[in-house]
Amino acid sequence: MPQNTDEMMKHITAFLRDSPLPRAAIGHLWVFRTEVARWEGEPSPEHTVFVKTQQGRFLGSAVYSPNSNIALRIFSRQKLCLEQDLLRKKFESAIASRSFTGKETLRLIWSEADGVPGLTVDVYSGKAVVFQITHAAIEEKRDWVLQTIEELLQPEILVERSEGPGRKKEGLPERIQQHKGTIPIIQTKIGNALFEINLLTDQKTGAYLDQAHNYRRVAAVCAGKSVLDCFCYKGGFAIHCALAGAKKVVAVDSSKEALESLNKSALLNNVTVETCLANVFDNLRHRQKSREIWDVLILDPPPFARSHSNVTNALRGYREINLRALKLLPPGGILATYTCSYHIQPHEFLQVLREAANDARKEAVVLEEHYQSPDHPILLAMPESKYLHGWLLQVL
Ligand code: SAH
Repeated sequence: MPQNTDEMMKHITAFLRDSPLPRAAIGHLWVFRTEVARWEGEPSPEHTVFVKTQQGRFLGSAVYSPNSNIALRIFSRQKLCLEQDLLRKKFESAIASRSFTGKETLRLIWSEADGVPGLTVDVYSGKAVVFQITHAAIEEKRDWVLQTIEELLQPEILVERSEGPGRKKEGLPERIQQHKGTIPIIQTKIGNALFEINLLTDQKTGAYLDQAHNYRRVAAVCAGKSVLDCFCYKGGFAIHCALAGAKKVVAVDSSKEALESLNKSALLNNVTVETCLANVFDNLRHRQKSREIWDVLILDPPPFARSHSNVTNALRGYREINLRALKLLPPGGILATYTCSYHIQPHEFLQVLREAANDARKEAVVLEEHYQSPDHPILLAMPESKYLHGWLLQVL
């Protein structure tokens, strides 16, 4: 039964084509523009859209984007309009599903996975909140987002990072703004380690919270080992490995600022990490020439494929770094390797790893498969929600 009946007047309806079968008919949450046969009413980001089959079977309630190929994103399987009350309920269930105690650092709202397409909300140490809006319909409801955050989370610091390619595609202007608090810098625990974060300027919405879970998993195999962390950024992996008792940790990145910040984090955590300012491609080649050997090697590059047209080049890049990394590993050596390229399918990445191992003349076994941290939930119906793929391999 509809819960916000007063608002039912405000919806419009999209009837989907019968064939090819729209993915929304089998549980997916996206509707592409070409999948809509006809509209009843004028679609706009202001209004909720009820998605139905040609025959009128109700599939879900969605938000509309005028610019994206994904015209509709379903936020509920019930007949509901996206009103302030519903937004509050979505926040409440996100809090409940994460057993959020109010003090930790985590992603609290992650778009479709939390029933609010195009909204990300991160909480740092329970007292700072960073949010990002990447959908025109949520932009319309920005005041409610601000009010809900204030009401339920009462942050001391509130920062908006509404930026990035997704927002550009929606035709929305960039908005980076501190709404509350005086300084945007905080110290917070991510995984087991302390980091200093500038919420206004650091990458993503402040930190790579999606890797927090994997920091611990990689650190668990590092005691007494030599570790080379490539594409280290502020040393999420490196610091965790050092804390877990690695005998030597070297961290490589091409950003001077990232390495300066890593040095600060090392001090904060009372560990030693050697930094190396270099291009990872060149640096691995150089280390190979010097016949270096490492017990554990971590590869966590930025997304090489930013669009579908880059996939071939990106796969070549992944193959090259993985090949070079594998060459530095002795029998028993471990490779933790990741891709966060949304356009690279897990099977394509695994194939790249097979080819790299074959070219490096190494036999390897899979110890673990890694995903993004569980506060970035993977929806069973939506493979796209699993965007971070990683493998922990061991060379035989
Ligand atoms: N592992 C990090 C996140 C890595 S983000 C963490 O968990 O926090 C990717 C990093 O790769 C960025 O810091 C960027 O500066 C760096 N980078 C991008 N291209 C590079 C290259 N060719 N060589 C070295 N570093 C690179």
